[in-house]
Amino acid sequence: MVLLHIGIDDTDSKQGMCTTYVGAVAIRRLQKLGFRLKGYPKLIRLNPNWKIKTRGNCSIAFTISAKRDQIPTIKEIVLRTVEELAELHVETTNPGVVFYQGSRIAPEMKFFSKKVIQDVVTIEEAEELAKRVGAEVHKFKLGRGIVGALAAIGNALENDWTFELIAYRIPENRGTPRRIDRSSVEEMNRKTYPSTFDNLDPSTGEIRITPHTPCPILYGIRGETPQAVKKASKMVRALEPIEQIIIYKTNQGTDEHLRKVKIADAKPNWSVIVEGVVSKAPRTIPGGHVIFRLKDETGEIDCAAYEPTRQFRDKVRKFIIGDRLRVYGGIKEKPELPLTINLEKVEVLEAAPLFRKENPRCPSCGKRMKSEGKNKGYSCKRCKTKLPASSAKTIRVERAIGAGKFEVPPRARRHLAKPLIREIAGKNSGDL
Ligand code: ATP
Repeated sequence: MVLLHIGIDDTDSKQGMCTTYVGAVAIRRLQKLGFRLKGYPKLIRLNPNWKIKTRGNCSIAFTISAKRDQIPTIKEIVLRTVEELAELHVETTNPGVVFYQGSRIAPEMKFFSKKVIQDVVTIEEAEELAKRVGAEVHKFKLGRGIVGALAAIGNALENDWTFELIAYRIPENRGTPRRIDRSSVEEMNRKTYPSTFDNLDPSTGEIRITPHTPCPILYGIRGETPQAVKKASKMVRALEPIEQIIIYKTNQGTDEHLRKVKIADAKPNWSVIVEGVVSKAPRTIPGGHVIFRLKDETGEIDCAAYEPTRQFRDKVRKFIIGDRLRVYGGIKEKPELPLTINLEKVEVLEAAPLFRKENPRCPSCGKRMKSEGKNKGYSCKRCKTKLPASSAKTIRVERAIGAGKFEVPPRARRHLAKPLIREIAGKNSGDL
């Protein structure tokens, strides 16, 4: 028996389809013929700042254990499925399929996968790597999808991972409003959180398991273990038929996109963790976005809490110059603007002390005295007593923010961003 790793990407368009569905159909067809999957299929989210993506920049991979003479049949089924389902008529859809035979994923494939998640690579780089490691690439049109397909095979999900159960709609219903019992989702969330997560936004009550696109997905439930997402799915009442269900093991919610950097080293298209001190106070710009500036010993960078992050902005507005922070977020390529970190979460390492000047009280009548102007001292309106400017007291004010971490709400969360609850509850917790 040999192991055949299969990666697929770039099959969908804004009008429909989804690479997770193409994978699910290929897997179902192979299983019907008696082929066995090794482990869970993988759903790998790639660089969230990459501009040529349809939606959430995901690719998929799975592994089949088969006899050597069965390999051509497997390849044929996968390629036919991609050809049949991919939105090939759409210019921006450029599918790629990669086959890699071997019991171990070469270290340079893992390195490549990390690069596709954290940076930008070229199609040529993917082709060169495939040649070196002996992987077979199939390009449809431009074949850009081989980048994600190879990255999905190369990601062994060794350090941290989560699961997503996806239920697909029957073809007749795609493109119509999704029908699902809202209260059953609320109950599911109540009963399974935090072993499932980000399925409902507590700040707005918004249900997060149903997408708003014409894709084949009815709902997707995120959780820590296959058992947790299965249990949760049984609680969700779908009011329309489900064509099929699949569970993917994934790097969603793991922070795999982030890298620690000094400000001077931060680059567009990266997602970073930066430590620094607030050097320019937060201000709200048109559109409701809140921007402040952070500085370290190498430079300064803007940080933004965009409007959709809602109440997250209220906390950000409380920062003052001197606050020491660790910020997490992505940097989009926008040549017309200064480099800006799109905040995903923030840790306040040390809140700067805040002082307020307090006018003295009148030594005769006890009434609070009035300032006569800058450095001109104070006077009592009632008894006309005067005191010098030095008689004012400086008082330390209680800050409305202390050390600790906070994050954007689920509705504004990137697929790869690790929700704080996963840090608190521990990774891959919640076995039910
Ligand atoms: P789907 O959810 O169906 O996969 P998507 O939002 O993931 O859609 P794609 O249609 O797959 O977007 O388009 C992204 C394309 O960019 C793919 O061809 C993928 O191989 C490629 N790609 C992804 N990340 C990078 C990257 N970091 N550098 C270069 N190419 C990338």
